[in-house]
Amino acid sequence: MIDLHAHSTVSDGLLTPTQLVEHAANNGVRVLALTDHDDIRGLPEARHAAAKQNIHLINGVEISVSWNKRTLHVVGLNIDPDDEMLNSALADVRAARIERARKMSQGLEKVGIYGAFEAASEYAEDGILTRVHFARFLVEKNYAKDTKSVFKKFLVKGKPGYVEHEWMSLESAVGLIKKSGGVAVLAHPGRYEIKRTSMLLLLEEFRALGGEAIEVVTGSHTTAQYVEYAKYAQMFGLKASQGSDYHGHGISFMGMGRLPAMPSQCVPVWSDWPQAGTLGMAVAAH
Ligand code: AMP
Ligand code: MN
Ligand code: MN
Ligand code: MN
Repeated sequence: MIDLHAHSTVSDGLLTPTQLVEHAANNGVRVLALTDHDDIRGLPEARHAAAKQNIHLINGVEISVSWNKRTLHVVGLNIDPDDEMLNSALADVRAARIERARKMSQGLEKVGIYGAFEAASEYAEDGILTRVHFARFLVEKNYAKDTKSVFKKFLVKGKPGYVEHEWMSLESAVGLIKKSGGVAVLAHPGRYEIKRTSMLLLLEEFRALGGEAIEVVTGSHTTAQYVEYAKYAQMFGLKASQGSDYHGHGISFMGMGRLPAMPSQCVPVWSDWPQAGTLGMAVAAH
């Protein structure tokens, strides 16, 4: 099983990189990409654990992007974790996330919720600060019954804990990934709630900038969307990727090792990777 999208405690996942790799191994995953949001500091630990578990680790990242007033995610696979430009750009995103979190906290203060920044920072430890860390605090304090309702009530557009944020441009994200030797993959396109004309525009622009693949089989897509995005990939000559987008027990769309087969017309993103042959990845999508 190949899983090219998963999170650890370095971003908003519940498992440390080591625990994530062990969990993947126990669930039949042979090839795993760690793709933390805007951070690649979990990769050395994951690599160490992967060697022990006989898992082939792909160096990955999931970069937050602002495109036409929307937030998109671009996954980079096989990036170089030592690339200076990438590391420095991600350090800037982390710093901006701290500023954003302060503003989120101020928004929550306006509705009488205090101490959110400090609590979220504690949950995040040394990792990046995300809305998920705020959600944990708000659930803990009983402001809503679960993560889902906490997001709805406080953390989405128009709600007290939401702030507009300017993420990296699509051009910069794709450029950084490519310059560090990686492949840029548009994450879970079916989740962006954009009309077909905008989707066509996005895919056109993504490809023109050097994007090479889109996620087709992902925990964020419905079965109907696997078929829909397989068609988009074919239409634009883009390869197809697959990943659970695992975040941890109870907060994931899909468990690890449970990915259904990719639609047969897809060209897997790994089809031309040098390591694919030895791993038996080239022929089967599983
Ligand atoms: P951020 O990058 O800080 O805006 O946080 C985004 C993360 O929050 C996503 O990667 C998801 O893991 C999580 N998330 C976003 N929307 C929801 C939601 N409605 N319910 C639960 N988790 C969500
Ligand atoms: Mn996330
Ligand atoms: Mn995402
Ligand atoms: Mn993700």
